[in-house]
Amino acid sequence: MGTVVISIDAALGWGFHDSPAAERPTERIARSRWGWKRLAETLEAFELPATWAVVGHLFEHDCAGAHVGHPTPSGWFAHERGDDPMDAQYRFAPDLLGELIGSDIAHDIGAQTYSHVELDADYATEALARAECDRAIEAAEAAGLSMASFVFPRNRVDHREILADSGFRCYRGTGPEDVRGRLSSASLRTLVQATVVQDPPPLVDPTVDEHGLVNVPPSLYLFGFGERVRRVLAATVGDPVVRQARLGVDAAADGEGVCHLWLRPSDLTTAADVDRLRSVCEYIDSVRADTDLSVETMRSVANSAAAEDVTAA
Ligand SMILES: [Zn+2]
Repeated sequence: MGTVVISIDAALGWGFHDSPAAERPTERIARSRWGWKRLAETLEAFELPATWAVVGHLFEHDCAGAHVGHPTPSGWFAHERGDDPMDAQYRFAPDLLGELIGSDIAHDIGAQTYSHVELDADYATEALARAECDRAIEAAEAAGLSMASFVFPRNRVDHREILADSGFRCYRGTGPEDVRGRLSSASLRTLVQATVVQDPPPLVDPTVDEHGLVNVPPSLYLFGFGERVRRVLAATVGDPVVRQARLGVDAAADGEGVCHLWLRPSDLTTAADVDRLRSVCEYIDSVRADTDLSVETMRSVANSAAAEDVTAA
């Protein structure tokens, strides 16, 4: 029986806070709450549970931007202070999280560190990795949640032993390299028509790593093809991402693997972006109705993989 998993990297302003202020995509940040709400509504409409990997600071109601004793590099929280701080609505989201927690859909709320630290960066000491895990867990516990799932900011995987120590049980590892963004339009068209349109994205198999964590790797990033690809293929095959996601869902329905789709709320900035998401969700729902396909979360597939691992041992 195949499975679809959807994971979401939910960061709002934290996804961009370590960029210089002049380089921050202010329009994208300004749309991030809109994107979050459209995503939550769409999942709700099709009754699809997802793993929301949330930056832990979003659970907070307020802060002074000091975070005394938190072992981040100097100036890490500078965007929260001073005369022109990042707007509070992109640093705090207990309202949005409360809606997810209260939803009838059994979402899996996990973490993406506490303040969007890239865990393989030079500044990411063990002390910082531990503090980022612990603070995220504490913030979630204060909201009544016990977290199991972890997504690495910008998919930079490191310090997995600390995740395991902190009580996380699974993470999203790295997927196959995506080279399509670097190709010219002509080679892009050839490649996409040869592969994307005919071959499904890779199904994945959750595995237990040396730390006892379950790695649930990704199959397909739903916004990995830019606007250029969408334009190149619109006339012939429609939205190539929808096409590929459908192939992945079909492959999962036909087999045993997991089709793991992922995206960010900040990817949804236009009606066309929401249409893409809606088309994918609608398709998952229709295949689920006609086959044995199940829609699960990182937490639930990790529980099954860990149980199988114990049985096999
Ligand atoms: Zn703060």
